[in-house]
Amino acid sequence: MTGAPRIPLCIPLLAGNEARYLNECVETNFVSSVGPFVDRFETTMAETLGARHAVATSSGTAALHVALLVAGVRPGDLVLVSSLTFIAPANAIRYVGADPMFVDADAATWQIDVNLVSQFFATRCERRGGETVDKKSGRRIGAILPVDILGHPVDADPLLDLARTHGVPVIEDATESLGGRYKGRPAAMLGDIACLSFNGNKLMTSGGGGMIVTDNADWARRARHLTTQAKADPRESIHDEIGFNYRLTNIQAALGVAQLERLKALVAAKRRVAARYQDLCGAVPGLSFMPEATWAESAYWLSTVLVDPVLFGMDSRSLQGCLAEKGIETRPLWQPLHLSPAHRGADVLGGSVAENLWSRALSLPSSAGIERSELDAVCAAITGARQG
Ligand SMILES: *Cc1c(COP(=O)(O)O)cnc(C)c1O
Repeated sequence: MTGAPRIPLCIPLLAGNEARYLNECVETNFVSSVGPFVDRFETTMAETLGARHAVATSSGTAALHVALLVAGVRPGDLVLVSSLTFIAPANAIRYVGADPMFVDADAATWQIDVNLVSQFFATRCERRGGETVDKKSGRRIGAILPVDILGHPVDADPLLDLARTHGVPVIEDATESLGGRYKGRPAAMLGDIACLSFNGNKLMTSGGGGMIVTDNADWARRARHLTTQAKADPRESIHDEIGFNYRLTNIQAALGVAQLERLKALVAAKRRVAARYQDLCGAVPGLSFMPEATWAESAYWLSTVLVDPVLFGMDSRSLQGCLAEKGIETRPLWQPLHLSPAHRGADVLGGSVAENLWSRALSLPSSAGIERSELDAVCAAITGARQG
């Protein structure tokens, strides 16, 4: 197949004030990394989530990098992070000179397995001088970085209990769960600081961009400082530490503001997509959908099925091939990071659940603007593939 797929995996829905706000950028000459939409994007996101502070960044990866720095993660630290996730959070851990300790997924939620984290603290860590260290290596545990994958939040309460007991900050990567909830609390408000990405295929997009969200005023101030080249005196151009150019442009923020105005509608659309898939092909033998915990309201960023090769009659990759022939774009999950050549040698707690999900899962077309007829076509193609 050449060219764009007939039914893509996930494309933006620009159905609100996007064009108007972009035009406003051009008309006011505010197109670069200062401008009213940047402030408005931050303020509106903070209000939407009920957070005290929000700091816009040039990408989600930049947000993760700076969140790790302001949360006090130091070179040589270990950071507990989900193994089954897009690679950006693990890379950001390396950027600050720390190393990831990968944690397997929980089979019930596909999120970081909190029991493994608990066991790790109980059996392999001890307190030394007010810090929690890995007994064997003597290395400090710098943070826990749960990644809410595919729209579903992590089981935050027991994780936070552990983090508090052991004096370790929690950095939530809520990129994929933005708009979702945990026991009524908004995703991105579950840990001490959260990171968001507004890349093109996320639930809401700013073209490219990210945000740091926290209630901690000192961390927010330092994040703003570090993302803007650590300027101590703008008039004399004096910088008091090594900063970064991680600023978002007014053009990106304009798009972000327009998308954020429609966040509720976008999440509702994603939930409708997930519900329709379950109605149409939830009963197909050998297919099962990603579960939603009783305490969770998933944002359903990507509707994802598990394919049982025996019961379904073919494996997830063969099904992907059959759907591709019909112009339907799907995607397996990410290679678990404890297997990634990029992170060779990193330690892992468990790993088999993530590996199993990786081999069996397939994310289905999940654009917020997908037509009902397209959802029907995807399910017909799945059923047809099974029947050969
Ligand atoms: C997309 C994504 C990122 C990376 O964001 P960028 O804006 O592309 O740098 C980080 N974390 C998660 C969970 C993501 O899905």
